[in-house]
Amino acid sequence: MAIASINPWDGSVLQTFAPLTDRELEAKLSLAATAFATYRQWSLPQRAAGLNRLAAQLLQQRDTWARTMTLEMGKPIQAALAEVDKCAWVCRYYAEQGAEFLQDQAGPLDSLPDGTVAQTWVRREPLGVILAVMPWNFPFWQVFRCLAPALMAGNALLLKHASNVPQTALGIEQLVTQAGFPPGVMQTLLIEAHRVAPLVADPRIRAATLTGSEAAGIALASAAGRALKKTVLELGGSDPLIILPSADLEMALTTAVAARMLNNGQSCIAAKRFILHEAIAPALIPRLVERFQALNMGNPLDPTTELGPLATPTLRDELHQQVTEMVRQGAQRLCGGQIPPSTGNFYPATLLTHLPPSARHIEFFGPVALVYVVPDLETAIATANDSPFGLGASAWTRDPQEQTQLLMGLEAGSVFINGMVRSDPRLPFGGTKQSGYGRELGEWGLLEFVNIKTLWVK
Ligand code: NAP
Repeated sequence: MAIASINPWDGSVLQTFAPLTDRELEAKLSLAATAFATYRQWSLPQRAAGLNRLAAQLLQQRDTWARTMTLEMGKPIQAALAEVDKCAWVCRYYAEQGAEFLQDQAGPLDSLPDGTVAQTWVRREPLGVILAVMPWNFPFWQVFRCLAPALMAGNALLLKHASNVPQTALGIEQLVTQAGFPPGVMQTLLIEAHRVAPLVADPRIRAATLTGSEAAGIALASAAGRALKKTVLELGGSDPLIILPSADLEMALTTAVAARMLNNGQSCIAAKRFILHEAIAPALIPRLVERFQALNMGNPLDPTTELGPLATPTLRDELHQQVTEMVRQGAQRLCGGQIPPSTGNFYPATLLTHLPPSARHIEFFGPVALVYVVPDLETAIATANDSPFGLGASAWTRDPQEQTQLLMGLEAGSVFINGMVRSDPRLPFGGTKQSGYGRELGEWGLLEFVNIKTLWVK
């Protein structure tokens, strides 16, 4: 059952899939290469129209695919519906803006020694077939934020999705086909992780992108490096959320809980470390505990559920092991930290404080927040930066000088002041340090997978 849909709410096996044989994989690669040759000829308005049709399909079928996501990986149904809507948004965004990002640009006139001039342009051409290796946590969004710009740029896409969301993965291919893109322009490959490295070396694949863990990123980037292929990596994070005394404390608190619990705590940009100024920490900590304990844990298909089960039993057990190890090393448990007796992969909202130094290296991929109390702004920034990760960061203060220091001082791919870290089709998204490299979304994401071609004509 390497590739299977298993309901995290009750452990029932929904469907299993046989991985592609080598021959089937070869046929898909070959089709992708042929499809790219046709698709790259599509004009920019044709590609944009395809993306608009894809957005319409998504909205028409939103209930079906939201339910499929929830059944396969346990995200609360309201969040799943919002995720489908966001995918439609990113398709429409690139349909509207893509042509401008892909316009030819006139370069300087090049004056030559013989007194004549050459004309120059810069052109953006598709690269070819892109391999996308994607995680289960936002099983639609992670794919669409890569798929929409890739298709707008004229590339073809092969998707190796996480092994626990095969129905979602096949659904995405179906949606792209229904939107009228040429057969083979976007295909799902039901294959195991160990078959990714040899695949990257195939000459028909021109570049690869991976969203997932550090270990998977290193494996893909090593294989791609050996084959001289470009990669974009969106990896893990341990985002800080800093609260300073001048903040709107009620908003900060509400956002801290939402930002930690988003997607049952399984988000790369979740606020995983709460860094509280000592002047407000004694008042804030009991309120955080209260809010964590009040979260409604239950069936993710129930629209009132706030905290659903984790995606797999292994992920839940690994998270519990991390918490247990922190406590063994001296951390104090303020709430949670025990596996409930119910069926399903549930883990309660957990707050830890007095953390050992080893906590800084760990990404807690579930509803567990770490609390740090600091004496001043400088220590807050230093604590936030004392991490191998650098994905997002948020901070709460109404003091303009503090805001500037935070914006400049935090080492992260994005810094949000008085707001929750989130991705937006119009803005670049990505990390620094061990959180990866390259950017998705906006013009920056689209330009990752194009050949920027210099043209010179005398
Ligand atoms: P994961 O185990 O790394 O899996 C992600 C994808 O990589 C899956 O398709 C997986 O396939 C594949 N994979 C695993 N090992 C591989 C290898 N050695 N070579 C090639 N492919 C491999 O990550 P996850 O547990 O699903 O996701 C959680 C991680 O993703 C967290 O660290 C989270 O922070 C990160 N994440 C980052 C972002 C971001 O934008 N920066 C967004 C979401 C998640 P199988 O399922 O078949 O193993």
